Amino acid sequence: MIYQRSSALFAEAQQYIPGGVNSPVRAFKAVGGDPIFVKEAKGAYLFDEDGNRLIDYIASWGPLILGHAYPPVVDAIVNSAKKGTSYGIPTALETKIAKLAVSMVPNIDKIRFVNSGTEACMSAVRLARGFTGKERIIKFAGCYHGHSDAFLIQAGSGAVTFGTPNSPGVTKGTAKDTLLARYNDLENVEALFRSNEGEIAAIIIEPVPGNMGCILPREGFLEGLRSLCDAHDALLIFDEVMTGFRLAKGGAQELLDIDADIVTFGKVIGGGLPVGAFAARNEIMSHLAPEGPVYQAGTLSGNPLAMNAGFTMLKALNDAPEVFDSLENKTAYLHEGIANVLEKNGVVHRINRLGSMVSVHFTNTPVVDFETAAKGNNDTFKRYFHGMLSEGVYLPPSAFESYFLNDAISYEDLDFTIDALRKVVKML
Ligand SMILES: *Cc1c(COP(=O)(O)O)cnc(C)c1O
Repeated sequence: MIYQRSSALFAEAQQYIPGGVNSPVRAFKAVGGDPIFVKEAKGAYLFDEDGNRLIDYIASWGPLILGHAYPPVVDAIVNSAKKGTSYGIPTALETKIAKLAVSMVPNIDKIRFVNSGTEACMSAVRLARGFTGKERIIKFAGCYHGHSDAFLIQAGSGAVTFGTPNSPGVTKGTAKDTLLARYNDLENVEALFRSNEGEIAAIIIEPVPGNMGCILPREGFLEGLRSLCDAHDALLIFDEVMTGFRLAKGGAQELLDIDADIVTFGKVIGGGLPVGAFAARNEIMSHLAPEGPVYQAGTLSGNPLAMNAGFTMLKALNDAPEVFDSLENKTAYLHEGIANVLEKNGVVHRINRLGSMVSVHFTNTPVVDFETAAKGNNDTFKRYFHGMLSEGVYLPPSAFESYFLNDAISYEDLDFTIDALRKVVKML
């Protein structure tokens, strides 16, 4: 495949946009080479500026669970746009999507809409602190909750249990209120509660992480966090920005049968428009302004374009929940196909999968947390990524990202993908 035009567009973009992109992973830093530029997309396919067709396994990093340009969502956006794109005044549409979301997700009474997953997680933590009157939070290495300061934290050195900033611009003061734990390590979390008795407002976690590849929670791990939160009067925040309305109608809470206290959403809930949300039971949500004292606001929050796109997406999933089985079956088919080809060719690998999330790791140790995810052979990953791309398959351009299948992908597309790997595997 030829990427002349994409490369020229990237060179021009770099003159006017830092690194040529508006979100770092798009720049292909982890895999090398120039990113492709998309011209348009339809169903399972991306069409790039050089005239190539690519099967898309990221679906805008999750939102487009029914494929690109899903006609009912496109119609909803067009119809809304004709009536004005934002008012800053309440609409009936906001209640309509709130009511539907609350009916689909277990254990929530009220929901507040924002404009991104970052905003949702940032607000959820503020609400948890306001509700509990405590300041510290626990997060897990490798879990991503957006780019707000409190989450850009890495492990401190030596015996220090506090996090340290992992980006310039994040203050040490902020970092000291975020404690870092190992995913799937309950004892580590217990120890943090012991050494910070009475200070922890909340644990925030991706119940099924998709930002260090796809990682599965060990049996009893999330239940253990639930008990620790109950024992220490802390809130359990499930960041379901990725898993919400993807793993099941009710997300990971429903699939894994665990109740969180606050749940955050993004991605699918906006149907491809910029939407995030956070939700909880009344007792907690009543602390939010204007009902309560915890401040949170947004000029474009709940705008009719985004709400109509989101409502149409959620309604499609609610009306046809068999789509979750369909997605899981397709993902299992892909998993098996990839595993067969890699095994036959003696390529060391691990594949993690749950529902429509799957990731391939070039390592022989089980991938259960950030440390083990980081053991993957990145040179092999680069050859895999670029090989598949040249065969017409767009995978996440980083070994630390999950694939997100969309239901427009057909079994022929999956076979095409597995065939592509048969050609590529010889170079791995
Ligand atoms: C994508 C993501 C976010 C951030 O959402 P943005 O809309 O990019 O701000 C937060 N948490 C998780 C789990 C995500 O996958």
